[in-house]
Formats: sequence, structure tokens, C-alpha cells
Amino acid sequence: MRLLLVEDDRMIGASLREALREQGHAVDWVYDANAATAALAGERFDLVLLDLGLPALAAMALSREAGGLAVLRTLRDRGDATPVIVVTARDATGDRVTGLDAGADDYLVKPFEMDELNARIRAVMRRQAGRAAPVLAHAGVTLDPATREVTKDGAPVLLSAREFAVLEALMQRPGAVLTRAQLEDRVYGWGDAVESNAVSVYVHQLRRKLGADFIRSMRGVGYFL
Ligand code: CA
Repeated sequence: MRLLLVEDDRMIGASLREALREQGHAVDWVYDANAATAALAGERFDLVLLDLGLPALAAMALSREAGGLAVLRTLRDRGDATPVIVVTARDATGDRVTGLDAGADDYLVKPFEMDELNARIRAVMRRQAGRAAPVLAHAGVTLDPATREVTKDGAPVLLSAREFAVLEALMQRPGAVLTRAQLEDRVYGWGDAVESNAVSVYVHQLRRKLGADFIRSMRGVGYFL
């Protein structure tokens, strides 16, 4: 998935970005409310991890709201339903309530364990997709976002993190054509070097492991299941 991480603390942000990348996510990281609002206005993300305790936007300082809350309100005021998990300090109960009321999908209290963050990301994405069952299934292939296990006809299939990311994107919307650019977005964050033909290579590997017909090409457009 492509995640936007909004965190002004450089040490926390760096370790979060690293841990999220290890889960196979493409992570873009911004440090303040202005950059977050600009990123969300210009690009599409699968999920936002939003620290509420950000330096406030100068123009919004009058409202006395935390900078993160202003980002969330701006997003929802635009009608953008991108899932948002807010992160707050331990003693800020009021912030958590305000954050949920302002349209956050869930919250975490610092400090938190990565296992809990990963579980909450999966839960939010399940609700977003309106799926009751956490395991994706299509044409004999199953993908479990929680355990990251993939099977074909019941037998386990080993995938790299990026192969998994491409497959997950396609299995979330069976039948929908995803362009190479959309798939690259799911696999790479800003600043990652994107090898040309990278997506074609991952699709080739997936076909080798899951069957030549599992992923179809739409010539010049992209791929679909
Ligand atoms: Ca902060």
C-alpha cells in the first residue's frame, strides 16, 4: 500500500518509515501540516498515519487546533475519505475524541508497538474495503494481509515484499485494470529509485508462481485479474 506518514519528530518518523517499509508499504513522509495538506491535495494514498501534535499552520493557529487536526479537517471538508489513523500523546484524551469526531478512522497512543500499528492498519483497510473476511481470494489464489501468506490451490507460495504489494493491489479489485503507474505507486515511495519495467518484472514473477493466466495484460494500459 502507499502510505503518507505525517510526523514532525525526525527520529520517530525515521523508525516508523523503516518499519512500515519492512511490511512492504511504499511510504512518503512529510514533517508538517502544510506539506501534508499539499501532498493529500495532489496525490492519492491508501492510508494516512497522522501525528496530531504537529506545528500548527500559521493561518490556522487562531483556531488553537493542533496542526494535525487541521490537516484532517481540511481533508474531510474536501470530501476525501482516505483512511486516517491519528497518533496522539498519552495524556491527550481530548485530542483523541476530537480526532475521531473530525473523521479519523482510528487512533494510536504514543508510544505504541509496531505490531499494534500493523494490526490497526489492516483493520482500517478491511473496513474501508467493506470486506467482512480478511483473506482475499480469487481463482484458487488466497492472500492474507494479516499473515502475508499467499496460497495457490491450498499450497503456500513465497513472494517478495514487492511481488506481494503488486498482487495485493490487484486482488483488492478483481477485474479492475490497474495501470503500471498505479502499481508503481503501491510499490515505491518518494525518493525510491524506480527501475524501468519493474512492474513488468514483478508481474512476470507472479505469473511464474501463480499461473500464466492469473494476471491478464491490457496492452498499453495495465494489468487486471
Ligand atoms: Ca509531534
